[in-house]
Amino acid sequence: MKLIVLGSGTTVPHPQRASSGFWLETLGGSIMLDFSAPMPFRMAQEGLDWPALDSIWISHFHLDHCGGLAPFLAGTKHAPQMRSRTQPLRIFGPKGIEKLIKGFDAVNDYGLLDQPFPVEIIEVAHNEKFEIVAGVEAVACKTPHTDESLAIRITDRDEKTLVFSADTGFDELIATLANHVDLFILECSFLQNKTKTKHLELAEAIFLIRKSRCKRAMLTHFYAEWDEVDLTKELRAIDARLEVVEATDGLVVDV
Ligand SMILES: [Zn+2]
Ligand SMILES: [Zn+2]
Repeated sequence: MKLIVLGSGTTVPHPQRASSGFWLETLGGSIMLDFSAPMPFRMAQEGLDWPALDSIWISHFHLDHCGGLAPFLAGTKHAPQMRSRTQPLRIFGPKGIEKLIKGFDAVNDYGLLDQPFPVEIIEVAHNEKFEIVAGVEAVACKTPHTDESLAIRITDRDEKTLVFSADTGFDELIATLANHVDLFILECSFLQNKTKTKHLELAEAIFLIRKSRCKRAMLTHFYAEWDEVDLTKELRAIDARLEVVEATDGLVVDV
């Protein structure tokens, strides 16, 4: 798998970090993990093959994770690159994702689902296993953030694995989901003394990373308070042997 970080930030505007979005290339096709408002631009900016995008995963309904979905679907209707496309675009997410898309659509009769190619919306539940792109298995796992929030574990055809926590409070279940994965993408909204229980701070993230025994981890979803922090230095002080990388927009990681 190959991961390209498109947005390592939050809902708060930031000059270097777009809100949440990751492009994942698997042996079965391409997947967007979350789709915030800047994502249509960020995919194009990174030169990614967005007209051939196979699947989208929406972790929850906060706009810094799904706000680009309706504008993207409005765009694909008019994109010359997509006129001859026949392969379906599959959108996976928690229960309510269909209502969300249709709700956007109803506001102005955009015809978001009336595309040159089929659009399939698939709602998944906690513990549900599903095929996210051809031959690539996924399983969803609830997280303590909003009622609908889900983390996802993806297993590529070559058995490489990745977990994306999206937004979450502290719960050891996420470490269980990420057991021995090749890449564990975990939110780390705060350095310390977190002001919101439904996000993580560094010590909690490190606890979950250690508990998961993942091969490598990536921290993301950084609020501006991280701007003054040298994460590499913080991590070295905790445990120099831990393989943890800081997500930055544009970073490419081979999994
Ligand atoms: Zn968020
Ligand atoms: Zn959220």
